[in-house]
Parts: sequence; C-alpha cells; structure tokens
Amino acid sequence: MIFVPLWFLGGVAFLCGITIGSFLNAVIYRLPKGLSLLEPRFSICPHCRHRLGALDLIPLFSFLILRCRCRYCGKPIAWRYFGVELLTGVLFTLVVLRFMEEGALICLALLAYTAVLIPVFFIDLATFTIPDTLNILLFCIPIGLELVEWGRHATIHPFVGGWLPVSIWGAVIGTLLFGSIRILGWLWKGVEAMGLGDVLLGRGMGAMLALQVTHSENPLRLLPVWVVLSCLAGLIVGPVLIYLRRHRSSNHQEELALAEGEQDGEHVSPAGYLLHEVWAIVWCLILGDLWAYLGDLWKRWRGEKVVQENPAAEDWVPAPTAIPFGPFLVIGFFLTLFWGNALVNAYLAYAFSR
Ligand SMILES: [Zn+2]
Repeated sequence: MIFVPLWFLGGVAFLCGITIGSFLNAVIYRLPKGLSLLEPRFSICPHCRHRLGALDLIPLFSFLILRCRCRYCGKPIAWRYFGVELLTGVLFTLVVLRFMEEGALICLALLAYTAVLIPVFFIDLATFTIPDTLNILLFCIPIGLELVEWGRHATIHPFVGGWLPVSIWGAVIGTLLFGSIRILGWLWKGVEAMGLGDVLLGRGMGAMLALQVTHSENPLRLLPVWVVLSCLAGLIVGPVLIYLRRHRSSNHQEELALAEGEQDGEHVSPAGYLLHEVWAIVWCLILGDLWAYLGDLWKRWRGEKVVQENPAAEDWVPAPTAIPFGPFLVIGFFLTLFWGNALVNAYLAYAFSR
C-alpha cells in the first residue's frame, strides 16, 4: 500500500470541495428558478449578466481579491457564494479524514451525499422547498451504495430479517418518523408543521444513517440521536432565523395578512385531512416522486412537453414566524454522521452503568 500523508489527503479533499462548492452555488441559484444546470455552460453575474472569465471563478480567492464585488458592474456579490465554497471544502476534508479507513466507496458516497445536502440546506432556507431531484438523489445514493457493496459480496450489513436491505429499512423508518411528526403537528396546531419535502429528506437520510452502523449493532441506533440533534439545532438556530427574517422583510405585516388569509381559505374536514396525510406518506414510501420524475424524463426524451412545476413561483408566502425544518435536519445529519456513534455509546454506557 502506498503511504499518503494525511495533510496531503486533507488538502486534496479541500481543493476538490471548494471547486465543487463553486458548482453548488450555481445549483443553489438555478434549481429553484427552474433554470437548466447545463445551459448556459458558463457562469454569469446575476446583476449585469456579464459572462465570468476563469479569473473570476477561482473558488474563494476570486471573491476575496475582487472584494465581494462583480468585476464588471461593481455590484456586491452575496457572501453566500464564499460561504458555500468554504463550507463544502471543510465538510469534504472532514468526511475524507474521518471515513477514509472505512473504504473508498463509502467515502465517495458520503462526499456525493454532502454535495447534495449543501444545496438542500440553502435552497430550503431561502424558498421553503426542497427540489424533488435532490431528494431522489439523497435516497438513491445510499441504496446504490448498498447495492454495489452487495454486488461485491461484501454486504455492509446482514439484511434485516434475512431479506430487507438495511438502507431500505432506514428509509421506511425515516419516512414514518417525520410523516408522523407532520401529522402530530397538524393535530396540535392545525397548521402544516412540516412540508412533504422534509419527510422525503427524512427518507433519504434514514437510509444513509442506517448504513453508518457497524455489523453487529442495530441499524436504527443512530436515528434517535439524529432526531434529537436536528430538533436541538432548530431550537437554538430557529429563533435567530426568525429574528433575521422579521428584520429583513419590510413588508412583513402584509405577508402576515397573506399567510393568515391562506389558512382561512381552506376548510378540510379532519378525517379528510388525515386520509390525505396518510396517502402522502404512502406516496413517499412507494417512491411516488421517483416514478413521477422518471415519467417526466421519459416524456422529455420522447420530445413531449412537460409542464414545469415551479414551486418558487407559487404565490404562497411563508408567515414571518415560519422557518423551514430541512436545514436543521441537515445540521442534525452531519452531527450524527461525525459524532452519533460516540454519543450513543456514551449514553448507553451511562444508562447501563447504574
Ligand atoms: Zn456584474
């Protein structure tokens, strides 16, 4: 085996991370607007639409050298662009250093997972929606990882009950967990506590977390820590977000009126609502989103026109006190990925020591 020093591996991971982060910025900008990721091939300034050259696109450095302004029109560029690149670089380094020993395949799968979760975080934060394509990827990456391992006769896990792949088991429990939180939230407050996108996010993350447990342990052992850490993240960061949102939106009274009007408009009987909710969860479980997506691809391939649903264009306005839950699920996921096993071990040692 060739010896590669740690600092070198970490450095390469960081450079790959900031480069991919630069692409993720385009994903975050284009995906919610329904724009193509492939056309145009080059990047443009969102203000003056000037095509950016190679010098403007060096991750991190261009932003600092140009002092967060566009070279052509001088208008400020959001700090988010710098933040996304740095965050991707840091997370890539952490993932590589932490999971290198567990094999290149798991490491690559987790890097791909990270590259999908970062746009989920920022898009949900800004638009309160998670694009279906991202949720489908989050589900397919762990399933694919388990399939490939299985194909190499090196299952990460024995199947649950002898036949059910662990990732599927994690996906089912993840869906049911957040599906029931969604129903409970509605029963308690009478408003939608959690979007269906979050339930789908729970499905994908549940599948991935079930694969992060060693052979002999219960594949679901990380899920409770993940839920607790996500809720804690929401409790700590949520109020800050609400505060920022209130201060940023000058017309928040108007939004409030709109949001209230929206709730008054619909009168659904509780039984009808429950039925609708149960169907929504079943739809997540039978991969309704995946089949719909494949159906669209098929139509597009045959040259038929596909009606583009553009969630950002809907006139739904979130109440000023509303915060999306997706970003906290993402924070909870990364905390669990890095420290979940240690936390569960510490808790069990404490619980059984008395
Ligand atoms: Zn410009």
